[in-house]
Amino acid sequence: PALANQIAAGEVVERPASVLKELVENALDAGAQRIEIEAEVGGIGLIRVRDDGCGIHHDDLPMALSPHATSKIHHEEELLNITTLGFRGEALASIGAVSRLSLCSRIADSEHGWCVRENTPAQPIAHPVGTTVEARDLFYNTPARRRFLRGEKTEFIRLRTIQTQLALSHFEISFRISYNRRPFLTLPACARPLEQLKRITELCGRTFTEHSMYFKRETEGLCLWGWLGHPEFARSQTDLQYCYVNHRMVRDKLLRHAARQAYGDRLPQGRHPSYLLYLELPTHQIDVNAHPTKHEVRFRESRRVHGFIVRTLAEILERTEP
Ligand code: ADP
Ligand code: MG
Repeated sequence: PALANQIAAGEVVERPASVLKELVENALDAGAQRIEIEAEVGGIGLIRVRDDGCGIHHDDLPMALSPHATSKIHHEEELLNITTLGFRGEALASIGAVSRLSLCSRIADSEHGWCVRENTPAQPIAHPVGTTVEARDLFYNTPARRRFLRGEKTEFIRLRTIQTQLALSHFEISFRISYNRRPFLTLPACARPLEQLKRITELCGRTFTEHSMYFKRETEGLCLWGWLGHPEFARSQTDLQYCYVNHRMVRDKLLRHAARQAYGDRLPQGRHPSYLLYLELPTHQIDVNAHPTKHEVRFRESRRVHGFIVRTLAEILERTEP
């Protein structure tokens, strides 16, 4: 079974960045307002995520670490109405199968927290309300996968990419990030577009914020908002295209295609637009269970969504023309 778990883990845990993503998504699902991230040695040595969310009940700690245990879905029908980022109950078990994992948590009703380290029985510990998950020595027990990792620098860059994607998904949550035991980035919670722009500048650079415009449009249950880069700020890379559907980051073809179409021939040959797009729609309109990494979504009314995005963005872009 240990080997089976390690193999299954490969689908969820590819590298330190995927560990970080799963842990932060769990914190978001737990309703955290503040999330602290610590990483060492490209995240291979350590990834620790601490949140002030709802915590895990003592009785549920072993469950949280076992494969296919999720507290987020109880009935099959709920799969059609997913509001949380996680729902498969695979992440913690998978991370635990390929690292030295510890899980410490305290719920509001408890006077202290409980900690499970590498599948030992839970021990009482002092812990604020919320959860701390720590994954050390990633792939220490699967040398073949360990060899597959790149150097510290490359893994660090990938961590930073995921951090950026996550921090841009929820502006109302504060993030504190440290790397190799030094403070790396502090992102206070920000409610209004102008404050949010500060976070975007930190994460995407001043050139983008200076050459983009904020917008928000709503019709018939669809809401699209975000920042659109001016066409003259077209880039040779597609690295500044962030799409979120109900705050879930996606690499979605439909959204990218619609955006591309809206920019149309406003873009110079071979250049790419940059944008941050947030699409919000009722959960029953989408299926997030389409892909193991949950990076793709299916829209029930994909034509209508596509049309709405193209029209909205084209209209905004038109207004910027002299
Ligand atoms: P999933 O997120 O798909 O449910 P995970 O393996 O990521 O599966 O987590 C398993 C369970 O552990 C979750 O369903 C949740 O109940 C609990 N859990 C994990 N992380 C946290 C956290 N940071 N705060 C509260 N509960 C958590
Ligand atoms: Mg999860």
